[in-house]
Amino acid sequence: MQLWCRRLCQSRFAPFRYENPMKRRIALVVAAGRGTRFGRALPKQYADLAGAPVIRRAVLAFLQHPGVAGVRCVIHPDDASAYEAAVGDLGLPPAVHGGPTRQESVRLGLEALAAEPPDMVLIHDGARPLIDSNVIDRTVAAAEAHGAAVAALRVNDTLKRGGAIVTATVDRNGLWRAQTPQAFAFGPILAAHHTHAGADLSDDAAVAERAGIAVALAEGAEDNLKITNPEDLDRARRLLDCRALTVRVGQGFDVHRFGPGDIVVIGGIGIPHDSGLVGHSDADVALHALTDAILGGLADGDIGSHFPPSDPRWRGADSAIFLRHAAALVRGRGGAIDHVDLTILCERPKIGPHRPAMTARIAELLQIPPSRVGVKATTTEGLGFTGRGEGIAAQAVATLRLPPED
Ligand code: MG
Repeated sequence: MQLWCRRLCQSRFAPFRYENPMKRRIALVVAAGRGTRFGRALPKQYADLAGAPVIRRAVLAFLQHPGVAGVRCVIHPDDASAYEAAVGDLGLPPAVHGGPTRQESVRLGLEALAAEPPDMVLIHDGARPLIDSNVIDRTVAAAEAHGAAVAALRVNDTLKRGGAIVTATVDRNGLWRAQTPQAFAFGPILAAHHTHAGADLSDDAAVAERAGIAVALAEGAEDNLKITNPEDLDRARRLLDCRALTVRVGQGFDVHRFGPGDIVVIGGIGIPHDSGLVGHSDADVALHALTDAILGGLADGDIGSHFPPSDPRWRGADSAIFLRHAAALVRGRGGAIDHVDLTILCERPKIGPHRPAMTARIAELLQIPPSRVGVKATTTEGLGFTGRGEGIAAQAVATLRLPPED
């Protein structure tokens, strides 16, 4: 018997409440496949996905879920060392060795859990690394209500049957794409797997259906993709990029007064002038403002805390050192500088003729394209200290993309 409980999917955004927080739920992460379609020596579940193996991301999603008491994995015996490298530090119970088919592997995993049977088991593909807590919540809620549930998505595309030529258009009404997790009351799903061992069914919901267990549908998620081909890994990487990086905007401001000399250094470019700029370093007001903007985006102090004026090493220093340092800090955090924008405030010298050279120099120091460097200049209409020709001011903003905090 097969029962589709669409009603549950209508509450997809309803807040999840555990009906019985005392129930013991265990996630069984199945990762025993060899992944012949993946075309690499290492099975797909151990491939690196933005700094963490695919299986580690899947395991962590359940380990960190408050409604799940623990995780047990089913692996291929040949993958023991890759498994250890991927999740060995997470304190999981020993992995179960799977069988020749996925169905067999799940049965072996369930039998291992039977020594200390949970109330509910959530069976999940080790190759679905982007499972999120909302899908877990919805699947658990549906299984609590009905005894069994599968995360699934409605089929939105028109379906065709055929080979080179379409032979029929299939009515998609009532059709769903099954994902994992698939959650079941433990005793019945273990019994169903025993009864239908060797039946070559494509997922655990199918085993349950064959055993006459009603399986509810819970809304899955498009991001909960299964890594099958290398292209899937690229897609997962892009999804993680979008999720992970946060945008930061930093701002900086600096002033240096005119003094003796015949050259001013602005934006990394030496410009002949009837005076110089006074400062501990080369007094490059523009690079100082940019450096502070980047440090501000990192919330990591200011130029003075990184390069104290009291340190004789920075006397007369090329301010390129400071800007390069700030850019290296961004890269060291796994981030990137998206863009900087600089405004120089002075009556003289004229900045316009030097703007292309400044843009190119700043881009070079930051290791970003010149198209991401804004350089502007303005007078202050004769007003204030810049208007009186006493000094030069500069202000800057920097847009950074950074990984989330730990
Ligand atoms: Mg300065």
